[in-house]
Amino acid sequence: MSEFVADLLAYIDLSPTPYHAVAESIHRLEQSGYRSLAENELWALEPGGRHYVVRNEGSLLAFEVGTESPADAGFRIIGAHTDSPNLRLKPLPDVVQNGYRQLAVEPYGGVLLHTWFDRDLSLAGRVTVQSRAGVETLLLDFGRPLMRVPNLAIHLNREIGTEGLKVNAQQHLAPVIGLEDGPELRDLVAIELRAQGISDFPPEKVLAFDLMAYDTQSSGVSGARGEFIHAPRLDNLASCHAGLTALLQSGEDRLPAFTRVVVLYDHEEVGSRSATGAAGTLLAEGLDRVVTGFKGGEPQGLARALASSTLVSADMAHAVHPNYSDRHEAGHTPVIGRGPVIKINANQAYATDATTSGFFASLCADNEIEPQYFVVRSDLACGSTIGPITAARLGVRTVDVGNPMLSMHSCREMAGAADVAPMIQVLKAFLSED
Ligand SMILES: [Zn+2]
Repeated sequence: MSEFVADLLAYIDLSPTPYHAVAESIHRLEQSGYRSLAENELWALEPGGRHYVVRNEGSLLAFEVGTESPADAGFRIIGAHTDSPNLRLKPLPDVVQNGYRQLAVEPYGGVLLHTWFDRDLSLAGRVTVQSRAGVETLLLDFGRPLMRVPNLAIHLNREIGTEGLKVNAQQHLAPVIGLEDGPELRDLVAIELRAQGISDFPPEKVLAFDLMAYDTQSSGVSGARGEFIHAPRLDNLASCHAGLTALLQSGEDRLPAFTRVVVLYDHEEVGSRSATGAAGTLLAEGLDRVVTGFKGGEPQGLARALASSTLVSADMAHAVHPNYSDRHEAGHTPVIGRGPVIKINANQAYATDATTSGFFASLCADNEIEPQYFVVRSDLACGSTIGPITAARLGVRTVDVGNPMLSMHSCREMAGAADVAPMIQVLKAFLSED
């Protein structure tokens, strides 16, 4: 297994939720000398300054200031998203019925619901507690199998063979977490916080939580020659990892004139309209503050900076499915293992155009990589990304790219081991070359 693949698998396993993905990304940034900036501080920036900003624990903006004023030299930005479709706890989740204790859950984003059945699920996320100092939010990961959404036996569901599995999201998804005399969720959270040495508050001090289910099976490599990665949340932690790794590695080279930026957004899977999502102000305000914070700023700085900036929106792409190839556009069939995919949609579900597609293709060519191309069939609706949303908000030229994968939005997805390094290489080149 290559070093990059092993590192990606570790990153994914350390990141069961967007909050954990941001925490792990911060850990890596700090090891490379990046320092936290608070949104409520005045920013004063110098060439070579390495900084990051977190918003609401789920989104992250990291940047390395270039040698020249951003107003003159612009930004090179890589964007990706930290969230993945999953099952999230409802605020009063405890359900007791038929002798079992269960948790009420709500699907987040476009979940392939059937893939969550018969998996060894755990819980992770954040918990808000009443501490002596006030209200405090803590990260929590149970880290072990806790619960399961059991399938119905075929003997009681003969029609599944002819009609397929029909899942009612309200009726059929509540994971079983124990027998009816087991602890309530708040008790369980308080016990776990204490057991992990995070805090020592009684259950009544647990005020609220953003907790979600995840599969405890570790990410791994599979295929006769180790061709594949089998893992949860490849969409889109694989792109977060690629962007972040490219940023950290490019920092070992000469500092360019432009300012390097990586933005990792929460809430892409539910449309990006939130304070932390791509339709929010995180990037626009952050870039404005980089421009004005650089040696006191310059007139019309942000507009000038954006006019000479480029965004690579990195999100996973649909590889052609061997058993469902009729669902793909026959002339555009990306294959796992053949490298980065440029995603194009005339109706602007992707922000790519000839200029940005050509720009990315030439970056690939410089690195002896041949890009693949994806367009959706004309009779199917196209998925989207943070690309068009960010492009519309900032007016920045944008290309949508991603590595090819199968089983997108499954509890356990599939991508290519050989695709990890080339994407990092091209993104690193993007952040390195003037
Ligand atoms: Zn995605």
